[in-house]
Amino acid sequence: MTTHTNDIHFPIYLDNHSTTRVDPRVIEAMLPYFAEQYGNASSKEHRYGWHAKEAAELARRTIAGSMNAESNEIIFTSGATESNNLALKGIAEAYSGKGTHIVTCATEHRSVLDTCAALRTCGFSVTTLDVDAHGRIDLDELERALTDRTILVSIMAANNEIGTVAPLGAIGRMCSERGIIFHTDASQAYGKVAIDVKAMRIDAMSFSAHKLYGPKGVGGLFLRRNRNGVRIAPQMDGGGHEFGLRSGTLNIPGIVGFSEAAVLAVQLGQPEHKRIARMRDELQAHLAAAGGVRVNGDETNRLPNNLNVTLAGIVSKDVLTEIREIAISTGSACTSEDAATEEYSHVLRAIGLSRHQAESTLRFGIGRFTTDAEIEYTGRRITEFIYNQRSLAERQPSTKDLS
Ligand SMILES: *Cc1c(COP(=O)(O)O)cnc(C)c1O
Repeated sequence: MTTHTNDIHFPIYLDNHSTTRVDPRVIEAMLPYFAEQYGNASSKEHRYGWHAKEAAELARRTIAGSMNAESNEIIFTSGATESNNLALKGIAEAYSGKGTHIVTCATEHRSVLDTCAALRTCGFSVTTLDVDAHGRIDLDELERALTDRTILVSIMAANNEIGTVAPLGAIGRMCSERGIIFHTDASQAYGKVAIDVKAMRIDAMSFSAHKLYGPKGVGGLFLRRNRNGVRIAPQMDGGGHEFGLRSGTLNIPGIVGFSEAAVLAVQLGQPEHKRIARMRDELQAHLAAAGGVRVNGDETNRLPNNLNVTLAGIVSKDVLTEIREIAISTGSACTSEDAATEEYSHVLRAIGLSRHQAESTLRFGIGRFTTDAEIEYTGRRITEFIYNQRSLAERQPSTKDLS
């Protein structure tokens, strides 16, 4: 790549949980599918269609391989929001004869929580598990929540705000022993945390290309087909694409880009995660040196690129307006609209942060294109801001702000 460790690109992009820059190699792979190979994968009569179909099937095999799934277990969608909707609504509809109980957790993405709310209005009952101060569910509590009427458990693989990674294997085992379907939203985890759908007994899994240096507007849903596979009711009527489960002309350039992004993630693998985690740890140490810093999330089971901190005496909105040269977030992009309407992050609330603490919280998302110099600049700039604010307030950070 052309980035060097001492390059700084302003504004410094540290919002990689919201979305990522498309890797130039991904763009390269996509271009022919706009310009020359623009066929419709459903056109069976000519070469344009055949090429498109071949590209989609190669991508399907590649993406399936990256998670130890089979090709026919991958359904392409427009992204993880659609995949979550399709999985939850599709499974609920297909299994409503068996039961109407669903279990999820409080820190899920809106596309899971709101889908569950919609299912409630259709007669399903939903148990929403609480999490502890690190964003972890309690496996015993999950076990107690399961009943004869439970058809589906949906627990995210990694949280998009605080980075907490779930014990997928343990949840998978618990569900599989009881014949309950286990769905996981792996939008943040896919490509950053090792996922083996067979070993972890995952039945359904949502993921998205744009969280992994791929294009926006394309994603997928893994659905287990072996033994008695997961049944699902399609949520879109039409031409019967994607095994009849998701109608609509395939987004071939997007799918090709998605596949290339998956290949790169596998190729770059552990060394990339280690490098990113090292930069994250450096930034964390730099900020912690200012004192009055609380690290949110599970420090032992956390996404390598996530740093979510509550800074005593700081208003995070002021950081965003004062420090325009750094692109960060106060929470998740999907709910930041709510900031104006009195709501604060449901994730921060779930781990026990008060509104006041939530308003002092920043989320940093490190990425493939982040450089050491950017981390160093950010650490220095934010620390300087913290000291300035605290001296303006003419007080030292008090532990009260953190309790
Ligand atoms: C980004 C994200 C989504 C939504 O994905 P889209 O492809 O943008 O629809 C869902 N869940 C989580 C955890 C995410 O981070």
